Amino acid sequence: MENTSAVELDRLGDEIAELSAHLDAATAHLLDLIREFDARDGWNNGFRSCAAWLTWRVGLSPGAAREHVRVARALGTLPLLRRALARGEISYSKVRELTRVATPETEERLLAVARAGTAEHVERIVRGWRRVDRIAEARETTRRHTSRALHVSQDEDGMVVVRGRLAPEVGAVLVQALAAAREALYQQRRAPDVAADMEDTPTLVQQQADALALLVETALHHGIDPGAPGERYQVVVHVDAPVLADPDAPGQSVLEGGTHVPAGTSQRLACDATRVVMRHDADGRVTEVGARTRTIPPALRRALQHRDRGCRFPGCGLPFGQGHHLRHWAHGGPTTLSNLALLCRRHHRAVHEEGYQVERQADGDLCFRRPDGRLLPAVPPPAAIPTDPIHALRARHEAQGLRIHPRTAMPGWLGEPLDVGYAIDVLHPSAAG
Ligand SMILES: [Zn+2]
Ligand SMILES: [Zn+2]
Repeated sequence: MENTSAVELDRLGDEIAELSAHLDAATAHLLDLIREFDARDGWNNGFRSCAAWLTWRVGLSPGAAREHVRVARALGTLPLLRRALARGEISYSKVRELTRVATPETEERLLAVARAGTAEHVERIVRGWRRVDRIAEARETTRRHTSRALHVSQDEDGMVVVRGRLAPEVGAVLVQALAAAREALYQQRRAPDVAADMEDTPTLVQQQADALALLVETALHHGIDPGAPGERYQVVVHVDAPVLADPDAPGQSVLEGGTHVPAGTSQRLACDATRVVMRHDADGRVTEVGARTRTIPPALRRALQHRDRGCRFPGCGLPFGQGHHLRHWAHGGPTTLSNLALLCRRHHRAVHEEGYQVERQADGDLCFRRPDGRLLPAVPPPAAIPTDPIHALRARHEAQGLRIHPRTAMPGWLGEPLDVGYAIDVLHPSAAG
């Protein structure tokens, strides 16, 4: 009796091992597809990243989606690891770890580790490997300075070269401050005339340099105070008096200073901003200047943040954003919770300037459409799968000439203890030096 049960359980174990190897082989194929989709920007139609698209379309958690994209990209230059995964010989877990450190030069050695050891061994080796990598890196850059440092020197051509190593928390603040300054500069540049400035838009590294200059100037004069997101834009909208009486008329959208702004841009800026309404008479003289008001009062904005939590665009969910009027206030849309939706900057732009549409349905749900009118569902319909997907998977692998059996992914480990230090000494290219 006990024997039959033991045999049965062995068979069950074999089946688990064999199917896992099939799934790993299929995962390799999945990663190939993701790599190509990513390289060809297949996700770049309203989504922030390939990972965001995967989260939406496939239902991966954001973390898992990012890992899939990272591993898919890494395998592009690691053919040995890719092939071993495609044959079900090493697991996705092992590959995920190895791709953190593997290079075309070291992948063969690391593959041997994956074949010989368990996933836990691989994890420990990779951790040790990264430590050695960091030490090697630190050794190189700390030849002249042991810990934190900021070098400011002048180059041959007079340019000042800044190079430094900052403590992580200081670096984080610097990165944040640079981003804030870059955003401030970028807004000033973009807001007046988006189309004309396109060619002059500086590269990211140039923007960083400009941002640092702004930080330094600001620091010397006064502290940086970016204020709440809604405070960043102050839009002065000039509206003809007769037009104001008829909210359905499009009216003028000219910013103060007379700069012409594409209608979409001015509407986006005005969507969630501080507003001053002026009335003109027929000769263009200002007859009345209204009080400065927030288009979305702070209390309503808090309620909106509380209700929507983050960007409502399918698959996004960034935890902060701007209040978007589904029916613009300039067109008579009320500033009420039901006429508002939270959208991140990227997706607020998508809605106002890239032709994406959003409206609230009778049941209260939001409905997003692509520029071509196709529906962009919050949850995409599930993919069609065969009635017996396991059988189909096996059949496909068989057709590919793959021979997967219960021992395909079996490590060669015999139970001896793992000496990580020794293993790294033997394997890592720079450990001995
Ligand atoms: Zn808007
Ligand atoms: Zn978004």
